[in-house]
Amino acid sequence: MDAAGAIDVAAIRSRQVLLVVSNRLPIVLETAPEPRGERKHALVARPGSGGLVSALLPVLRHRGGTWVGWAGLPTEDGQEREVAQAQEQASGEFGFALQGLPLSGAEVRDYYEGFSNRVLWPLFHDLPERCCFDPAYFEAYVGVNERFAEAILACGSADLTWIHDYQLIGVAAALRARGVLSRLGFFLHIPFPPPDLYLRLPWRFQILRMLLAHDLVGFRTLPDRSNFIACVRRLLPEVKLLGRGHLVAADRIDSGSASAPPGAQARIGVFPISIDDAGYVKRAQTAVVRDLAQRLRGNFPPDRQLILDVDRLDYTKGIPERPRAFDLLLSQHPALIRRVTLIQVMVPSREDIAEYASLKAEVDRLVSQINGRYTAPGDWVPVQYVYRALAHDELIAWYRCCQIALITPLKDGMNLVAKEFCARSVDEDAVLILSEFAGAETQLHGGALIVNRHGIGSVAAALYRAVRMPLDERRSRMRRLRRQVASGDVSWWVNAFLRAAIAKDLSDFPRTDDYVPTDAAGYSTV
Ligand code: UDP
Repeated sequence: MDAAGAIDVAAIRSRQVLLVVSNRLPIVLETAPEPRGERKHALVARPGSGGLVSALLPVLRHRGGTWVGWAGLPTEDGQEREVAQAQEQASGEFGFALQGLPLSGAEVRDYYEGFSNRVLWPLFHDLPERCCFDPAYFEAYVGVNERFAEAILACGSADLTWIHDYQLIGVAAALRARGVLSRLGFFLHIPFPPPDLYLRLPWRFQILRMLLAHDLVGFRTLPDRSNFIACVRRLLPEVKLLGRGHLVAADRIDSGSASAPPGAQARIGVFPISIDDAGYVKRAQTAVVRDLAQRLRGNFPPDRQLILDVDRLDYTKGIPERPRAFDLLLSQHPALIRRVTLIQVMVPSREDIAEYASLKAEVDRLVSQINGRYTAPGDWVPVQYVYRALAHDELIAWYRCCQIALITPLKDGMNLVAKEFCARSVDEDAVLILSEFAGAETQLHGGALIVNRHGIGSVAAALYRAVRMPLDERRSRMRRLRRQVASGDVSWWVNAFLRAAIAKDLSDFPRTDDYVPTDAAGYSTV
């Protein structure tokens, strides 16, 4: 920061050490209010939401480096200048440079909505019937991954280029083909499928080879890594695999003009992603969140138990199963009528795609059926339905005032909401119900009530058990969960990955700021 207090973005760029790459930059662009006489269409950037941003933003803030990604507006919008200005403003506030990669509408359609979300997403989530194996999608995917590689090359050297998630599996191979030998790490935020499922992918050899172009490939859970290794064994028997411990080593595969130096290895590890636990605990205890939680809670009688269900609109999340299970609970146990309320929060996502729109219509219909069946005028409404993204504080306030969290994806990445709910439970008086197919299950099974992903009966039974659970048991389970979440928070996750990739950790990338704007509660406002 200079004497006048302005953050010097050029200095941040020149100090580059970590280069993070993801499909989207960690920002959402919004049209700024238009003061009289000002140019139209100014854009402002606010921090994005979603698991990757929630996890990485708190730890990377003010450590320098660059984040490369798409800003979220197709080039046809013709707002390049406004986008660049908003990125520059956010770079200063975040304390690392944002490097935008423009994408056209056709690229977004074929690379992102096509190969990423109609091939890899459903296949890796165990839903092959939803896949559309269009060769044009793969071509666009490779093309956009090459453009990401060019954008990374333009950023200059870094200690580590850390590439994130299924949209960008081919970036490292494109960098290797351009002669890049520096450290490349990759983390997959979604599950990796077992061989029988993976074999259905027409581009199965290419995707495996692309993954093996990294120096380090990280998965969220041991089963994901085992699935990947089983696929390598089956499809690429010539690749040597060494070791059984924390890191398994494979031959690195560099494609194109460059071939991997002799002995170069792709190491394969497990790194369960987590949350900023201390930040959540601190935030949950602030006056702002406490007051908001009290206000929300004040809308219900004191003896009412609140069940929280928060998810992004997605067919992998098992959203309709939850109102159905709640309905079953009420029909099996009429004594619970007026004693429980389901708070159903659904965050809008990809609504322009027909299958997402019909999922939303299905949930709307289920909620109105249940409410229609049980609500009496001026009386209890069994399902309180919220269809929008909640601001950070409002979400934590709901975490605080609900006794039960119902998290039952059909299959998902880690599920950070499950960990956030535990972190907020500062009074240790809450119950987590978790599906056996949530990524977090491998860590949280000791304290959560684990349910079968397809069994509405199993979910209704767990709800009944949670509602009636004695205080002692609630506390001892939640204490175990909180210990588990605190012992492996997001700094631990980043450090574990950095150590494995480059034998460094966050302390090697000291914060560059001596001033972080905070609100009255002492919480960062940027
Ligand atoms: N989230 C949010 N507002 C909401 C709902 C969710 O900010 O209304 C955040 C939540 O705090 C969490 C992330 O979005 O950090 C969702 O991550 P998760 O791993 O649970 O699911 P994903 O959407 O990444 O599959």
